[in-house]
Amino acid sequence: RADGYYCQFLVNVERKETHNFQGNVVGIDLGLNTFYTDSNGKAVDNPKYLRKSEKQLKKLQRKVSRRHKKGQKPQSNNYHKARIQLARQHLKISRQLKDHAVKTARALIQSHDLVVYEDLKIANLVKNHNLAKSISDASWYQFTQWVEYYAKLHGIVCVAVPPHFTSQNCSNCGQTVKKLLSVRTHKCPHCGYIADRDHNAARNILAKGLEMLGAIVNSTEGHSEPGGNPKATGESNLWFGDSNVANLKLSL
Ligand SMILES: [Zn+2]
Repeated sequence: RADGYYCQFLVNVERKETHNFQGNVVGIDLGLNTFYTDSNGKAVDNPKYLRKSEKQLKKLQRKVSRRHKKGQKPQSNNYHKARIQLARQHLKISRQLKDHAVKTARALIQSHDLVVYEDLKIANLVKNHNLAKSISDASWYQFTQWVEYYAKLHGIVCVAVPPHFTSQNCSNCGQTVKKLLSVRTHKCPHCGYIADRDHNAARNILAKGLEMLGAIVNSTEGHSEPGGNPKATGESNLWFGDSNVANLKLSL
């Protein structure tokens, strides 16, 4: 790595945590204003140190490109110095993100029995040149990986739902309430429900997860309508992440 050599040991042990089931189900909305907001309205902030690290990263990136002389070989020592500084800063940020992802995911799983989140793999993580945005995309993805890991460890169900319309629909009455990204409060003209935008989205995410879970359970149990064709096990065309299917099978 940019700051030295590392040696990694892999130890094969069975790890299992005892889970204290309390009946808490939760949906989470990963966002830019907060790290995530859950369906109970609780918000987990982005770590404060991240802004500072991002600023530093930008500064170092500028320094590297300033010192890079096109076509010159070899490049100056000052260029290489800056390049190493930049690599170390990248390393520092990735460690900070990982640390935050692990701790936040563990806390989330420990206190819930079912977690639903939006799967960002299919959110089409568009290439963008906005540093803050790409860092949060990466950290959300990493976070969901850890959420899945701890869910397995605790033997609880974790569901990923496709990210469509979760912020535009009213979580109280189901009507569509179109709003721009800058509108932070959901105000439903149909039923009068008012909630923080992300809180409303998290409630939709939870509902979507529960709905998918019901469909999966019913199809895998081979229920059929009288006279109808029984559904084959797992023959559901619902979208579902691979690892989540494994997760479900493990827990149900
Ligand atoms: Zn409504």
